[in-house]
Amino acid sequence: MPDLARFRAKHGPLDERSAEATASILHVDMDAFFVSVELLDRPELRGKPVVVGGRPDQRGVVSAASYEARKYGIHSAMPLRTAGRLCPHAIFLDGHHEKYGEWSDRVATILATFSPVVEMVSIDEAYLDLAGTARLHGPPLAAADKLLRQITRDTSLPCSGGLAATRLVAKVASDQAKPRGLVWVPAGSEAGKHFRPVGHRALSQIARRRFVRICHRCRAKIDLAQSYFWRGHRRF
Ligand SMILES: [Mg+2]
Repeated sequence: MPDLARFRAKHGPLDERSAEATASILHVDMDAFFVSVELLDRPELRGKPVVVGGRPDQRGVVSAASYEARKYGIHSAMPLRTAGRLCPHAIFLDGHHEKYGEWSDRVATILATFSPVVEMVSIDEAYLDLAGTARLHGPPLAAADKLLRQITRDTSLPCSGGLAATRLVAKVASDQAKPRGLVWVPAGSEAGKHFRPVGHRALSQIARRRFVRICHRCRAKIDLAQSYFWRGHRRF
């Protein structure tokens, strides 16, 4: 049974006019984008610690690190020398930004087929408003599910998504979903007694301080028990 069908069977029919329909903001974020693009040409490096940005004896910083490299504490914007010290056996690759731009355009083209309201906020992430697109792709959760699968199928690049009523919660949800996941936060379930605090880990380096502050203030926390939590991309 597809994950979405299993979720519906377990939780009963969703009131799509309320919870699902109002949670229509989807944040799509490609997983370790630069690394994933490099791995398209170097599939033998899959499952290994890979760092994009240059050699560890060069000046400069890490542009992207695979999830395997992140286990050693390597992250974007870290000096390459530090990354080399943390994981000497990591594979260090030069970045190819023209190539990343081309793949970003391909992803953007797919996004545009799902909603007329798409805002690319960086080379590898975008917000979409799925309100009013039900006739084409079904309710927002089904559309989000379909969209992420299509990106993975058409580009072979892993991605994650967060579906919520606001951009802030959608962003936090997609961070929670990584890698290769989709977290849906039904409208109205952002705060409540079962809520799990949003982890700092889930927030990007640059946005961390701002998001933690905002989340704390508005108590935007994600109830994973109520969220549709999906990691189905691996099968592709
Ligand atoms: Mg990303």
